[in-house]
Amino acid sequence: MFKKILIANRGEIALRILRACRELDIKTVAIHSEADAEAMHVRLADESVCVGPAPAKNSYLNIPSIITAATITNSDAIHPGYGFLSENYKFAKILEEHGYKFIGPKSKHIEIMGNKIIAKETMKNMEIPLIPGIKEIKSDKQVYDFVEKNGYPVIVKAASGGGGKGMKIIRKESEIKESLLLAKKESKNAFNDDTIYLEKFLEKPKHIEIQIIADQFNNVIHLGERDCSIQRSHQKIIEESPSSILSEQQRKKIGEISVNAIKSIGYEGLGTIEFLYENDSFYFIEMNTRLQVEHPVTEMVTGVDLVKEQIRIAAGSKLSWKQNDININGHSIECRINAENPKTFKPSPGKITQYHQPGGLGIRVESALFQGYSIPPHYDSMIAKLITYGKNRDESILKMKKALEEYVIMGIENTIQLNQDILKSEDFVSGKYNVNFMNEQKVN
Ligand code: ADP
Repeated sequence: MFKKILIANRGEIALRILRACRELDIKTVAIHSEADAEAMHVRLADESVCVGPAPAKNSYLNIPSIITAATITNSDAIHPGYGFLSENYKFAKILEEHGYKFIGPKSKHIEIMGNKIIAKETMKNMEIPLIPGIKEIKSDKQVYDFVEKNGYPVIVKAASGGGGKGMKIIRKESEIKESLLLAKKESKNAFNDDTIYLEKFLEKPKHIEIQIIADQFNNVIHLGERDCSIQRSHQKIIEESPSSILSEQQRKKIGEISVNAIKSIGYEGLGTIEFLYENDSFYFIEMNTRLQVEHPVTEMVTGVDLVKEQIRIAAGSKLSWKQNDININGHSIECRINAENPKTFKPSPGKITQYHQPGGLGIRVESALFQGYSIPPHYDSMIAKLITYGKNRDESILKMKKALEEYVIMGIENTIQLNQDILKSEDFVSGKYNVNFMNEQKVN
């Protein structure tokens, strides 16, 4: 097992990883920017190293600085969390070459899945269903030909995309030229790659993703699904497990398909296979090769500590579970709470003047906030995840409503109220909502 892990992240996920390390009796090194010297992850770690000034590109993304921090602290592995360097195959490769264990998949798998066109090709060969479309758009004519045959709407997406950037929906011919130009431009700016592809646009899909975990001996299991259809601008707000619309049979089938695909590429570590689900069919959209923000809902219903298992596997242990050991029990919901204006979604950094966390049976808070803490303006605006667990979906919703009522975060604007409004809506309660929920509801 590792003796010391450097956590190359900040905020709630740095704490989540730190706690897993503690339980495994592994020492921790926090890295931080100048703006985060007082942050909770720095206070709780065994050691900490400042890796640069506030902007992420100079600190949390500063590879030479992070490797230096690992060297001087004698760390033997690096956990990237999510975001920042977690899906940077070059970083994983540099670590492989320098003898540090990257707690995640091999760099070649990050590289394959980081390019959505290659990812889709790989999955297609594994018999995972894809949305009809154009593999790579090389000329406008391809798009004209496609819509003539298949009709509108279609969606243009960035091959290197993430966070919903570079996507354009096309509903009529007059939009084609401009949408292609815009998608290319946005994609070049955000990802330094203007490769784009096209898919048929599904009107009312659910976003359903399958959690998988694989060890270094090619043992692979899935841990059921998460329904992440409550989204704003393609960004998730509320996630739940299990999804209320899947039958046990459907879960088993899509789980098996996902496991087989992962097995055949010799993947290692945690991974999430994301699908759109419409009219009883699943369509692959992308694979995330890292720990996800919404991993706690899976932990709550399976009882598997995903971060501890991820670390154990990276250290060369065999999976602790077989597929038959995994049962989905009860129901879990996660609400993301952001430091944002709930109407405009403009970030709202600043000092937390009062803070009180909810508690009780089945209530879990993942957050690095504390009273008096100043949220810096430089990073992602998600400040807390509130997770509930109930014996069924109704109980989980009820606990979430009560927990949101109890949660006090003063001094900044936040999205607690927005989450409360969503939970009250009929579509949410029925479980039949789809990815258009936020556009159709009067909740924002
Ligand atoms: P990103 O990596 O940028 O998050 P994804 O491919 O994962 O992009 O898609 C994010 C979200 O965009 C999906 O959850 C869904 O809401 C929407 N979306 C993507 N592709 C389609 C499609 N073909 N039809 C309808 N909605 C889509």
